[in-house]
Amino acid sequence: MNTTIVIIGAGLSGLLTAYRLQELSFNVKVLEARSRIGGRIHTVESNKTKVEMGATWFNDGHYHLLDVIEEFNVPYFEQFMTGISYFQTFSNVPPQEIAVPSDSPSYRFKNGTVDLINAIFSKLAPETVLLNEKVDKVIFEKDKAKVVTKSHTLVTDVVISTLPPAVLIDQIDFSPSLPNELLAVAEHTHTWMQDSIKVALTYKKPFWRAQGKSGIIFSNVGPLTEFYDQSNVENNSFALVGFASGSCARFTKEQRIEKIEAQLKMVFGDDAL
Ligand SMILES: Cc1cc2nc3c(=O)[nH]c(=O)nc-3n(C[C@H](O)[C@H](O)[C@H](O)COP(=O)(O)OP(=O)(O)OC[C@H]3O[C@@H](n4cnc5c(N)ncnc54)[C@H](O)[C@@H]3O)c2cc1C
Repeated sequence: MNTTIVIIGAGLSGLLTAYRLQELSFNVKVLEARSRIGGRIHTVESNKTKVEMGATWFNDGHYHLLDVIEEFNVPYFEQFMTGISYFQTFSNVPPQEIAVPSDSPSYRFKNGTVDLINAIFSKLAPETVLLNEKVDKVIFEKDKAKVVTKSHTLVTDVVISTLPPAVLIDQIDFSPSLPNELLAVAEHTHTWMQDSIKVALTYKKPFWRAQGKSGIIFSNVGPLTEFYDQSNVENNSFALVGFASGSCARFTKEQRIEKIEAQLKMVFGDDAL
C-alpha cells in the first residue's frame, strides 16, 4: 500500500500501532523525541538487578495487554506478596501489620517490562523508528500533512499521535490549529502517573523475606507511599521498589534518601539500611 503514516511517540502505543500497520502493508515511520524507545516503560539495571522506573504490574483484568503478551510470547510471573505487610496510618504510631489478600494476583515481566517493548520493536522493519526526533510542528495541507522536527520534515498521508493529550497540545504546534473543543478536552486529560516518583533499592539479600515479611508497605505518612518486593523470578537479584509521594519533588536527592532511610528503618529495622 502506498499510504504513508507517521506515528508520533515510540512507547507501547506507538510501537504496537506501527507493527499492526506494517502487517497491513502501510508505509510507517515512528518519530520519538527521546534517545530510547519505551516512553513510560523504562526498565533500568542497578547492581545487576533490573528495576522498573515506569510501568511494572498488570493483572487478569488487563485482558487486551494479556493478548499482546501472548502474541509476542513475553514471559511473566506473579508478584511476590507472601508474608507480613505494613500500613502506616499516622506518623506518631508504629506501622500496623496487615495481610494483603492473594486472590487477585499482580504480574510482572520476567525480564523487565522493557522485554515487551523490545519484542515488538524487533518485529519492525529496520529504520522504522527514528530516535532523537522531537516533533515540534504538524502542518496540514490539502491532502498531505508535514511533520516537522529540528532535523527533518516528513510529508505523509496520515499522522497518528500516541502522546498523552495534554503533552500533545503543550509540545506540538498545529497549523491550522486544532479545534477548540479538542484542545479543551486534551488540556483537561490527566496524564497517567505524571506526578509519580519511582524509588528502587537493591539488596544483596532479601532480608525482609528472612523475617517473614512481604516487603510491602502502604503508607499515609511517606515519603514512600507504596513499596513492593521486586526481586527476580530466579531469586538471585533482590530489590524493593515503589513510589514516593509527589511532594518529594521539593527535596534534594540527599534529603529524599535520608527520609526514605528513616521510614524504612521504622518499618523494617536496621537491616533495611
Ligand atoms: C512511574 C510510572 C509507573 C507506571 N506503572 C504502571 C503499572 O504498574 N502498570 C500499568 O499498567 N501502567 C503503569 N504505568 C502507565 C504506563 O506506563 C503507560 O500507560 C504506558 O506506558 C503508556 O504508553 P504510551 O505509548 O501510550 O505512552 P508513552 O509511553 O508516554 O509514549 C509516548 C512517547 O512519546 C514520546 N514523545 C513525547 N513528546 C514527543 C514529541 N514532541 N515528539 C516525539 N515523541 C514525543 C515520549 O518520549 C514517549 O516515548 C506507569 C507509568 C509511570 C510513569
